[in-house]
Amino acid sequence: MISLPNSKSELEALISTGLTETEAKRRLEEVGPNTLKEKKKKTPFQLFLDQFKDFMITILISASLIAGIIGEWSDTIIILVIVILNAIMGFIQEYRAEKALEALKKMSETHTRVIRDGKTQITHSSELVPGDIIICEAGNMIPADIQLLEGTAVKMDESSLTGESVPVDKKAFIEKLESPDINSEQHLFKGTFQTNGRGVGIVLKTGMETQFGKIADLLQEGSPETPLQVRMKKFGKTISLLILLICLIIFGLGILRGEEPLQLLMISVSLAVAAIPEALPALITIALSLGAARMAKKEALIRKLPAVESLGSITFICTDKTGTLTKNQMTVVRHFSEENESVYPGYDNLHLALALNNDVKVGKDGKLLGEATELALTQHLIKELGESSYLEILKTFPRIGEVPFDSDRKLMSTFHQIGDQVLVICKGATESILDILKEKKNVQKIKKDSQEWAEAGERVLAFAGKVLDQLPPKSEWDKIESDLTFWGLIGMIDPPREEVKEAIQECKTAGIQPVMITGDHPATAKTIAKEVGIFEEGDLVVSGSELREMTDEDFAKKVEKITVYARVSPDQKLRIVRILQQQNQFVAMTGDGVNDAPSLRASTIGIAMGGTGTDVSKEAAHMILLDDNFATIVRAIREGRRIFDNIRKFIKYIMTCNGAEIWTITMAPFLGLPIPLLPIHILWINLVTDGIPALALAKEKAEKNIMQRPPRPPQQSLFADGLGLHILWVGILMAGITLFTQYWAIRQGWHWQTMVFTVLAFSQLGHVMAVRSDRSPLFKLGIFTNTPLILSIIGTLILQILIIYLPFFNRVFHTEALNLPELIFSVGMGLVVFHAVEFEKWIKNIRKKKNQTNPTH
Ligand code: ATP
Repeated sequence: MISLPNSKSELEALISTGLTETEAKRRLEEVGPNTLKEKKKKTPFQLFLDQFKDFMITILISASLIAGIIGEWSDTIIILVIVILNAIMGFIQEYRAEKALEALKKMSETHTRVIRDGKTQITHSSELVPGDIIICEAGNMIPADIQLLEGTAVKMDESSLTGESVPVDKKAFIEKLESPDINSEQHLFKGTFQTNGRGVGIVLKTGMETQFGKIADLLQEGSPETPLQVRMKKFGKTISLLILLICLIIFGLGILRGEEPLQLLMISVSLAVAAIPEALPALITIALSLGAARMAKKEALIRKLPAVESLGSITFICTDKTGTLTKNQMTVVRHFSEENESVYPGYDNLHLALALNNDVKVGKDGKLLGEATELALTQHLIKELGESSYLEILKTFPRIGEVPFDSDRKLMSTFHQIGDQVLVICKGATESILDILKEKKNVQKIKKDSQEWAEAGERVLAFAGKVLDQLPPKSEWDKIESDLTFWGLIGMIDPPREEVKEAIQECKTAGIQPVMITGDHPATAKTIAKEVGIFEEGDLVVSGSELREMTDEDFAKKVEKITVYARVSPDQKLRIVRILQQQNQFVAMTGDGVNDAPSLRASTIGIAMGGTGTDVSKEAAHMILLDDNFATIVRAIREGRRIFDNIRKFIKYIMTCNGAEIWTITMAPFLGLPIPLLPIHILWINLVTDGIPALALAKEKAEKNIMQRPPRPPQQSLFADGLGLHILWVGILMAGITLFTQYWAIRQGWHWQTMVFTVLAFSQLGHVMAVRSDRSPLFKLGIFTNTPLILSIIGTLILQILIIYLPFFNRVFHTEALNLPELIFSVGMGLVVFHAVEFEKWIKNIRKKKNQTNPTH
């Protein structure tokens, strides 16, 4: 049994120490992890059995059993073996797809700050137990049902639980514990978001015991299907019906011609089994989820699978400046200190401000901890005065209150005891400070200096202060920010990340427009945007206030020319996304704060920051940048394009092969030829050529020009760009060659059926090598540059040779050993398709070159 403290004194004691690690471990064993139970998953065995549920497979098994009863059992057995092998392949593919999705889900698990053994530490939210003391901060998702014991101004967005989107106020209550109630003010619930304030709470319920757990069944949703998966499913259904119809026709015509019905049934059903692309959906899931796993290794964590696909369609990337384009390593490069009477004789007022209006803490090991802007201020002060003076100032003027920094106000104020009076210090953006000065005498000079510094790419902060007789009540603190005296300016630089310039160039050649959105001054923003290559002559810089003045029509006209938005508040980001989307642009948008969530959600790809991002932004995002780096977005886009290309390649491959099988069987009787293949041959070709090489195509490296072509319109058909045509003509060619072989071999008195079987198998292997690239000829690509593919081809070749020459396989597959002329003829025919597809690429390249030199055509 887990007992929780229930008096005020016990709770107060627990807040400072938390549980011990050993006790937490014991409780975890007792109540289990703090996770929601997922819908019962299929066991691997069930997944395997599912492979036989297919209607056509059932018919095939029944037909082969009947054939066995009235004819030869060896055929039945080998068909059953192939069907089982097929099922194993299907099973492996689905199992891998599921595992890859699970691994992805694991990576996006949340963390919580918990107090244990008297220390604050970060733990997996799944390891929380009742009795844990946790720290709740704005931006976080609440990991369990808790009672708030301490905290001020805590507001919660409980819409995930109640549907009510207006944040509700919460109040701390430490007298005793009460069981969690959705209507009570002191309880915070798992799965809801904290939008404001800071507090400490005790975990009361975890996992399925939470309010969220109770409705979890309603919320169970599978991973969303990507547009491509949905389209492929639809397409799969249509094509299956078509194939069934064709098989029915083959069966009907065969009967009319007087063929043996059972044999005919076996052929038609085998063909249906082989030609229906049942493996495609699983292959697409594997390609997408393995791709996502690869991206995670490159610091881009995909939260929603459809993002992998939409990455290739992005036309605009709207990115934060600080930390994403720049290093977030600020250094003060100059300052200006106004001459006025010092508040603390011997010290400059600006120096006092640098030390005091600052949330930097000195860590246990003496290291300074804090946000980059403020760290820079402290480091500058220490450089000028030395560490002891810094510590002395801190000690002399203890902080008694604060109005924290807020990117809407662009101001931060702190209040300090100075004798029996109160020292007020404000810092913030120059315009914000100028608004609250008592005397406006030097305004022009301050503005001019700030502008000049900003134009040099510096972040400028202004400082001001005053002394009050006493501290007003908390409710009036916001009014303190007035009648101040100007103290000085600070200019600091934050150098761009090294790799960003190149990444921006890459974006531009790939038809993607990068846009900077920042809270900084327009001049600072423009200079940095110019330096990294975002801003070019002719582009526009727009500030938040100008944006507010602009009508939607006006904004829409200019939006594609604006590459820098400065002094923007988070709520304006949503408008930027909307207007860009109205112009049919596909927008990737970065964000890290609570207020960024709506714009992240609305954009095609919302990108949260792994390092500095809040839980709210991460939850809303489609992708998380683990290293907060702009270059990672571009790398992810490149990867997304590669994955999509490869999906197209294996669709191209599988559909062409299936088409060839259909054409061969359908056309033979019309050409006066006997049925070219036996059911085992069809099933075998389907087994070895469909799955393995197709899967290996997903490993193909990116095409050389992948970032030199424009983004893919998302509504574009999968079969655009000549894919449909390729499937048609190569399928017909492959069938033509096979049928020609049959005709010629019969005329020569050769072992025609074995030759037909071999030519079809070889043609498909040649085809897979040719479709590895849409443009580059194989000799340029390198035959051995895709190891899994080359291994699968060699394996298949060896098997085919064994089938032709090993007497045991001859019996099983009804094949005959080919003599040298027959083998040479088969290999020669088998290579035709490869050369034809390479020729197609050659023609395409010549045409492209012509178009480039003569763009009017
Ligand atoms: P970006 O959007 O490029 O990441 P940012 O989010 O860092 O920029 P904000 O943090 O909103 O931008 O800062 C906006 C402005 O507020 C800055 O230009 C600066 O003038 C002021 N400012 C930033 N940090 C502080 C702070 N700690 N105290 C007071 N003012 C600040």
